[in-house]
Amino acid sequence: MPTLPPLLDMIRALIAIPSISSANPELNQGNRAVIDLLANWLGDAGFSVDIMSLPGKPARANLIATLGSGPGGLVLSGHADTVPYDEGQWRHDPFTLTEQDQRLYGLGTSDMKAFLALAVEVGRHVRDTDLKEPLILLATADEETSMAGARALVAHDAPHARHAIIGEPTGLRPVRMHKGVFMEAIHLQGHSGHSSDPSLGNNALEAMHEVIGTLLAWRRELQAKYRDPLFAIPVPTLNLGHIHGGDSPNRICPECELHIDLRPLPGMDIDELRGELRDRIRKTMQDTGIKTTFGALFDGIPAMSTPAEAAIVRLVERLTGHAAEAVAFGTEGPYLRQLGMDTVILGPGDIDQAHQPDEYLALARLEPTVDLLRQVVNKVCISGRRLL
Ligand SMILES: [Zn+2]
Repeated sequence: MPTLPPLLDMIRALIAIPSISSANPELNQGNRAVIDLLANWLGDAGFSVDIMSLPGKPARANLIATLGSGPGGLVLSGHADTVPYDEGQWRHDPFTLTEQDQRLYGLGTSDMKAFLALAVEVGRHVRDTDLKEPLILLATADEETSMAGARALVAHDAPHARHAIIGEPTGLRPVRMHKGVFMEAIHLQGHSGHSSDPSLGNNALEAMHEVIGTLLAWRRELQAKYRDPLFAIPVPTLNLGHIHGGDSPNRICPECELHIDLRPLPGMDIDELRGELRDRIRKTMQDTGIKTTFGALFDGIPAMSTPAEAAIVRLVERLTGHAAEAVAFGTEGPYLRQLGMDTVILGPGDIDQAHQPDEYLALARLEPTVDLLRQVVNKVCISGRRLL
């Protein structure tokens, strides 16, 4: 076996490399150093490594590391970036793996660099001569912001495999569905005038009142039409999150802007929804003299759904003893689905720990994760028999 560091040292090394993704340019970093380290380990372990730089962003890359070849196969996937941390609110250094109270503290322990180390730990002990189907380790860029890494995979049409596990924090319970999300700004431009004579202006705030009526009616329609009881909130949601308009009570409000988010269920297409949203609002504002403009605050993540009867779903349900669930957070899963993989979200961390000060991973989760991944790799890539 190649001389890779022990598991805890690999986790420590990944946590020590800052790889923060943020919409705030002052906090935003690349993930390239994390990708290079993983590529070195996996290259030493006999994988062929392909580093895919993001177009125009040399500090950001995806890693596709492959052992074995041929059709079928399994992808173990994780993102190599983290969210920013709250300065001053951590009791431990976010970049120094700290073992205390049977926990590993550090930024990215739960979400989700530790999973990448666990996948390497499993992959290093697999011999390519034993493989009947390939084992692919995938690490991605910018999951926490734009999903640019996952989008680049789709653009390159790689990697290909039959099954995928994404090790996002699910407390080792399998997840096969999540909602999507997109965010939109709606800007209305009227014109101002003295409040004493409404005919002098065109009130954007009153126009927004009409727009909100349209949105709430549309929400009722969507919630009557779409429902999935597997989700804790079984209907699509549309939230009015932010509004700003006007400046003074004695002036006709000249402009108003509203920000919303919409979280569709699987089967609802984000581009179609965005188009319908804009059409309905344009129609409401027709012949009012109000100028309406739209902006995508967040392009969006599609909803994900892997069929309950998919072999990988059945397999991890049997191995974990838990029925596959639906969750409220988004992942890179829909992009792997687009690449043709039956995808399950299943990782050792807890979502309550993610994006929090003093993020940790319970030490007791390490061994069961290695066991679980080993069994999946054996079943999918080595035994060569039908999964079930
Ligand atoms: Zn994550």
